[in-house]
This record gives sequence, C-alpha cells and structure tokens, in this order.
Amino acid sequence: MIVIQEYAGRRVGVLGMGRSGLAAAAALEAGGAMPVCWDDNEAGQDTARQAGFTVEDLTRQRAFEGDGLAALIVSPGIPHLFPQPHKAVEHAWSAQVPVDNDIGLFFREMFTWEPAADDDGDTAPVIIAVTGSNGKSTCSALINHIFCEAGREVQLGGNIGVGVLGLTYPRSRELIVLELSSYQTELARHLSPDIAVFLNLSDDHLDRHAGRGGYFAAKQRLFRNGPKSVIGVDEVEGRALQSALLGVAETVVPIASAHSLKTESRSVFYRKNHLVEYAGGKQVASFDMREASALRGAHNAQNAAAAYAACRLAGLGPRQIEPGLRSFPGLAHRLEQVAEIGGVRFVNDSKATNVDAAEKSLLSFDNIRWIVGGKPKDGGITALLPLMERVKKSYLIGDAAEAFSVQLAAHPYVIAGTLEQAVTLAAADAGDGDTVLLAPACASFDQFSDFEARGDAFRHAVNRLGKADGS
Ligand code: ADP
Repeated sequence: MIVIQEYAGRRVGVLGMGRSGLAAAAALEAGGAMPVCWDDNEAGQDTARQAGFTVEDLTRQRAFEGDGLAALIVSPGIPHLFPQPHKAVEHAWSAQVPVDNDIGLFFREMFTWEPAADDDGDTAPVIIAVTGSNGKSTCSALINHIFCEAGREVQLGGNIGVGVLGLTYPRSRELIVLELSSYQTELARHLSPDIAVFLNLSDDHLDRHAGRGGYFAAKQRLFRNGPKSVIGVDEVEGRALQSALLGVAETVVPIASAHSLKTESRSVFYRKNHLVEYAGGKQVASFDMREASALRGAHNAQNAAAAYAACRLAGLGPRQIEPGLRSFPGLAHRLEQVAEIGGVRFVNDSKATNVDAAEKSLLSFDNIRWIVGGKPKDGGITALLPLMERVKKSYLIGDAAEAFSVQLAAHPYVIAGTLEQAVTLAAADAGDGDTVLLAPACASFDQFSDFEARGDAFRHAVNRLGKADGS
C-alpha cells in the first residue's frame, strides 16, 4: 500500500466507498490521518463501518465546521462539477477545503518519497500514465506485458486492476503503469508521470465534462508538467496537443494508425500491416502486426504503436519489445473471442460502450450478427450506418432497442430484448463464416451492474449454446 502522510493528525473527508475510496481511507489512516467517510448509499456506509472507518454525513455543512477537514478526497464516479456538483464538494468549496482524489494523493506521495539507492546508484522508478477515450486498458496492459516479457519489474494499476493507492512502493528501476480516465485526471491536484500517453479522443462522458472541450481539457491536464509524451495524432485534438507540447515536454513522440509520420525526430505509425518506427528521417525498425494475434484491427495497432513508443521512451530496444507484442494475450471483454461453434465465431466486445469503440469493433469483422443496445448515449448509432454492409442483421437489446430500430430503418434487425435472447436468435440465424459480435455502443447499467457483468452474461449464453450443440 502507498501511505499518505501529508495529513497526519488531521481529519480528511473521503467521498464514495468504492474501491478507490476505501483504499484512500486506508492509505490516509496508515499515514496517521483520521479519515471521515461518506457514501450516499447505505451499503457504502456499511462497508466503511465494517472496515472500521468513521462515517459522517458529508452532505451536511456541519461536517466541514469546527475541526473542519484538511481535504476532501472524491471518488471518480461522483460528479464534482458537471452536470451538478455533489453537495459535499460544494461545502468543501465554501469552507475552502482542497478537493482532490486518490491519483493526486499518489503523485504527491511519489514526488516527495525518496527511494533507497541501489548498488549502482541508479534508482529512479519510472511512472507511465495512459489516457485517451478508447484503448487505455489495452495499451496499459500491453505496456505492462511487454516489460514483464523483457524481464523487468512492473506494476499495473489505476483505472485497471488495483487502484493507485493499492500499489506498492516501487523498487529501483521498477516501472509503474497507470491507466487514467478523464474523471481521474480532471480532479487530481498533482499529476507528474515521467511518461504520459494520449491515445485518442472521441465523444464520451460529455455530461460529466460539459462537452467535448471540457473532456479534452480533463485529459490534457496529464501533460501540463511536461512529461516525455506519446501523442496519438489521428484526431485534431492530438495534433493540437502535440503542437502545444513542443518545447515544453522533454520529448514528444507522435503515433498514428491511419497515416505515415515521416518525421526527423522519433515517430511510430501503422502502415501496410506493419508498425514502423521512424527517426532521423528514416525507418529504424518495423514489426509485422499479423504476428500479434490478440491485437487485431487498426485500433489495436494504435494501442500497439503507443505502447511501443512508451516502452522505447522507458529505455527498451525494438528487439526487447517485439516478444511482448507477439505474446500479448488480450483482455477479457475487448474483442475477446469466447467460442467458435460450427464455423461461427462469438466475440465479446462488451467494453465497446460508445459509438467510436463499436465502430472499431465492426471494422474488425465481416458477416456480422451484431448484438447492440443497452443504456443509450447521445446520438445513438446513426454514425455507424455506413458500416451496415458488414452487418447481416442486428439484434437489439435493452433500453435503446426501440430507438435503435428506428435509426436502423431499412437494415435488417430484430428486437431481442435481452442479451440471452439475442445470443439465441443470432446463433440460430448464423452460418459458416459469420461472427456473432457483442459491441453494444451503450452503457450496460439498464440491465447489468457493469460491462464486465454484461460480457460474462454473453459468455455464459454462448457456453450454453455450445453445450446444447454437444460441442
Ligand atoms: P478503455 O480502457 O479506454 O475503455 P479498452 O482497451 O478497455 O479501453 O477498450 C475499450 C473499447 O474500445 C473496446 O471495445 C475496444 O475494442 C475498443 N478500442 C480499443 N482500443 C481502441 C482504440 N485505440 N480506438 C478505438 N477503440 C478502441
């Protein structure tokens, strides 16, 4: 555990008792602070009590008076500004109590922490942070995997696996790879990675950031201390960020999945099935992405390019990176093939919770039987209509089903309602060479607790088919 000492002897509010809130309370307590916990849900309050923490209603002004609070630590799921600030955050503002999150606490602690020197005096651990709209988990897990395969010590956390405060203090030359969401970068008071990666930007979470500009601003905060930067320049925002960092960041490596980047300084891009590293005006390395079986599609080439560039900046050579690209097993719920039954592939991309991710998913296959729907996001699926030639039929589920059926208009569809029914119908229709693809383009919360539960339900439904089929 990372121990937060800066508030020793003082009361610190912790809002939200999910994974990050509980870890923050524990890390503060270990450093001698007195965490004062709150969750709007009773279950969350019970969890805090069971863990032995003091629970106090932080939605009341009173909690901020008297002894007051030295800081308020807010969980990423809780809006601190848009669409409306949480009451406790408003009280903190009025009482001039700093508002922060676990990421800010982590970076502050790592900034002040002195690692013990090793024999050759080379101590510095390296922190790599990855942000972007889609591909963060894949890219950060890939960086982690490449370093493991290269025989280096590495820890992975943040928005994936362990929360930042659940990591352990790194040993000399160890790497820490963090996946960071816009909710996390927006609020953190300290953000000082050694290497920062910006993958891409597409519309998502717009209500929490009051639009695309706010969303981009939240992600850009990761770069404000001028870390060595890897910047995806496929979208205009990336190109603007690259330009803004010139002369500010020590090194900026642009990466692209849609076009070549023949730069004097280092760049990495994807072209004709190959990942290409360019430097000094010439190609210095290339890797055939067809050897990386779990990194299918141009979008995964973007993730691979970013991971490759980050690993190069952290000191690995091309030959040390390639084994990890080849052997990366992929992540569950991201274009994960869960079965092949009678020539039909079943692919779980439950993590395709927005239109951009679903687009990349549809672009990865032909002859698709598309399971789509859930809790819809602004704009629905009209942006995906140009891809309907790849889709033999759509199977609509969840709250979005009616609205999506209107948007699909003349394209074949059926309202399946539930995911299970959609799998049954799609499997019955599917023939040799078809892909039954769950790429919902929606959040899962109408029918599931999260995208993982939705992906698991898909896998179970497919497994049942396999059993019924005798295969
Ligand atoms: P994140 O952690 O940013 O949500 P994931 O790696 O979990 O990213 O992938 C989320 C979804 O986006 C998956 O459906 C995946 O297939 C798709 N995806 C992955 N990488 C990219 C990318 N670079 N661009 C667009 N979509 C992507």
